[in-house]
Amino acid sequence: MRIAIAGFSHESNSFASQPTTLENFGVHTADQLISHYQDTFSEIAGYIAGAREQGFELVPLISASATPAGPLTRQAYEELVGRLLAGLEQAGPLDGLLLALHGAMVAEHFPHADAETVHRLRTHFGPTFPIVVTHDYHANLPPSLVEEATALIIYKTNPHIDQRERGLQAASIIARTVRGEIRPLSALVKPELLFNIYHHNTSRPPMQPLMQAAIELEKTPGILACSIAGGYQYADVPHMGPSIVVVADGDQALAQREAARLGEMMWARREELKTAVPGPAAAVQAAMASEHFPVTLLDFGDNIGGGSAGDSTFLLAELLRQGAQGWVMTIWDPASAQQCSQAGIGAQVALRVGGKTDTLHGPTLSVHGRVRTLHEGSYEERERRHGGGRYFNQGLTAVVDVGGPERRGLLVLNSVRSYPNSIHQITCVGIQPQHQQILVAKGAVAPRAAYEPVSARLIEVDTPGATTIGRAPAEYKLARKTLYEWR
Ligand SMILES: [Zn+2]
Repeated sequence: MRIAIAGFSHESNSFASQPTTLENFGVHTADQLISHYQDTFSEIAGYIAGAREQGFELVPLISASATPAGPLTRQAYEELVGRLLAGLEQAGPLDGLLLALHGAMVAEHFPHADAETVHRLRTHFGPTFPIVVTHDYHANLPPSLVEEATALIIYKTNPHIDQRERGLQAASIIARTVRGEIRPLSALVKPELLFNIYHHNTSRPPMQPLMQAAIELEKTPGILACSIAGGYQYADVPHMGPSIVVVADGDQALAQREAARLGEMMWARREELKTAVPGPAAAVQAAMASEHFPVTLLDFGDNIGGGSAGDSTFLLAELLRQGAQGWVMTIWDPASAQQCSQAGIGAQVALRVGGKTDTLHGPTLSVHGRVRTLHEGSYEERERRHGGGRYFNQGLTAVVDVGGPERRGLLVLNSVRSYPNSIHQITCVGIQPQHQQILVAKGAVAPRAAYEPVSARLIEVDTPGATTIGRAPAEYKLARKTLYEWR
């Protein structure tokens, strides 16, 4: 049995100012794929382990992924899909394909780009070829994707720490399908909700009991998979919002019935989907008044993993204004990192930091400080953290002491937009998080896996930006205006 594996992944934010181009993608070719992924917690690592478990031959093709930002340019999408299809042409006879897609990719010419990818593959291979797809929990699902994939498996955790298990599950489903042991049939239900990202934490209500029901259902005979996607509210696409996908063995009615039941459960919680989150001033004040430290502030508006710039200054301005002590904040600012590098360790610098990507993420601020350390920016995460990655590089990074002898805080200025999914983003530059008072993590739910273990408390902050917690329906063009929260 020969099964091809590939990945093409991007979470595209319709409200981000910067498009995602071919140059933004990290690509691993057929000969690099296995060595790059096998020791990670990603779904592709699950595919690789699944091949051993199920005894099939792996045919690696290509993987391409980029840090979330604006929609893909036409050129980026067509080039990468073209490379995937060319790899399939050259792969020789295949029995199936395992495909890691995000589920919230938007290209400038296709709002649901992942569905377009599956459609092209289905057209290429014909109606019966097994194509099992895995998706991120933040997928926005159109019906066509569920119809054209043989089966779809979605992460069950947010922060995402179960990708490897989902890859294993997909590998098992494809192998059993090829062997003729099972016949996956799927049903999709989409409750008319937005389901704000604030409520996406799978460890607390309202999502936790829903996910628990999905996990229970998966143990039922005849059910092959049961997934809930929270959706991704920053992609302005027709099928934005949560989804429930049930895959049953040869029984379409069972899949439909169970998906509808879970859909009703989700709909019944609609009154719980309100949000009341403090703004920057109140959040900094609450952090400073805390009895135990460190307090981590989650900067929702500058959620890098959700496509924001990474150089927002709203919280920095507030930390400086209120005279907070012992804070640490990472800002993507290659020019300032370069300036610090040229000045050298120990030098006093006058910097203009942040707010350089666009006008959504606050003004550029003047900051004086001393260059404390300089780093080349690579770090490794061996624990299971959001995204399942292991090797990271934030580029040239400068740590600047802001505020003179009575240190107020540390600015970490990096050169590659890097989401705070690993605490080693700051430990690798010599910062001990347990000895700080306020840590700023530019994210919503994802950083929790890295920051909960070192924090006395986390405070969610409603900041402006490309990933601000709530948007008026008038800002959307394609999303359904019938969603409950917008009525
Ligand atoms: Zn996600």
